[in-house]
Amino acid sequence: MTTFAYPWDLARLGVERTLEQLVADGFDTIHLAATYHPIDAVSPRDGVLRLFTSARGAVHFPARRERYGRIEPSMSSPDTCAVWPEVAARASSIGLDVVPWTIVLYQPWIVDRYPDCARVLPSGDPVEAGVCAANDDVREYVTALCADIVDQFGVGTLHLEGVIPASYDYGLLRPRVLVDLPRRARELLAVCFCASCRRRGASAGLDTDRLQRLVNDAVAVELGMEPRGSTPDPEAAGEDAELQAFAADYVRASVELVEGIARQVQSGDALRLSTIAWSPFHALLGEASDESFAEVLGPFDQVYVSARATNDRTRVALEARARRGLELAVLFAPSDLAAVTAMAATPPPKSSERIASELAAAADLGAAEIALYNYGLLRETDVRRVSAEMRAAFA
Ligand SMILES: [Zn+2]
Repeated sequence: MTTFAYPWDLARLGVERTLEQLVADGFDTIHLAATYHPIDAVSPRDGVLRLFTSARGAVHFPARRERYGRIEPSMSSPDTCAVWPEVAARASSIGLDVVPWTIVLYQPWIVDRYPDCARVLPSGDPVEAGVCAANDDVREYVTALCADIVDQFGVGTLHLEGVIPASYDYGLLRPRVLVDLPRRARELLAVCFCASCRRRGASAGLDTDRLQRLVNDAVAVELGMEPRGSTPDPEAAGEDAELQAFAADYVRASVELVEGIARQVQSGDALRLSTIAWSPFHALLGEASDESFAEVLGPFDQVYVSARATNDRTRVALEARARRGLELAVLFAPSDLAAVTAMAATPPPKSSERIASELAAAADLGAAEIALYNYGLLRETDVRRVSAEMRAAFA
């Protein structure tokens, strides 16, 4: 039983006090953010509602600059970074495991400083929200970052969030999208045309200029616009074998990134790799879709899935559990997180019936781990109440 938590909340609440309270509430693990994407987080603790702001994302542990190459970590405040060594020093003595919760690609500060690392839309427009896993400097940075965390804190599990973007618009800040984009158009828009991806495509013998025109024209047709070039049937465009190969290779770039991390950090003690995994492609990859997602899960020992085993990603994860012992975990929040990502100011709390049914579903799934999202964003009374329900569901 774990909780995802922010180091800035622990800095404010006190490390020793927070860790002891976690153990008292039945938690045996804490997922502590080591890096994080942009956030405005409100914390209702100790009699005052506080706001934490990070406009472009940051690194929240004391990274050692000399270990990095071209991309040097953008550090959070010294107070926040100081939490990591303190947690690592105290946690083991009270029986708490620490898992670095590491945001991999959704780091706008990298794009600010190194614009060539950005993911690029078929239009050629860079996406400031995140970097591309195919970029060599991004790979060097992420690998160095993970090795830095593991070497400093001797953790047993490393959690990697977002090794591949969930969708073309993942992480857009205050997005304005007033057109209705059909799923196929959304998938086509998620194909990256950055210089690294184009180079990979060219070396695989693909005509990336043609693919870029094809995608733009197919999206235009989907949106009822006049395409600039040909007038392709969007369905036929989606079934273009070269485009499917190019999209599959974009997914593979993320797999290679994780494999590189595994090689770098697993030279010493055994380390488990965990993730919350997704893929921007489904219809586009057709019958190869499941296989591609299984490939994404390949380097991991544990994956967080939806409690209800109804979606394709959970189904593929269940197959991987049966085949090779992949461990399943469930992230649980007492409020509707879908509303958070839809930019609602205040997500509706879940009813007690819904909380009970979600926890029962997680237990039925045979989840080996359940995580509470998110320690500092909940009132202390919420944590106490929900953690009791989590313990009861898994008893
Ligand atoms: Zn790319």
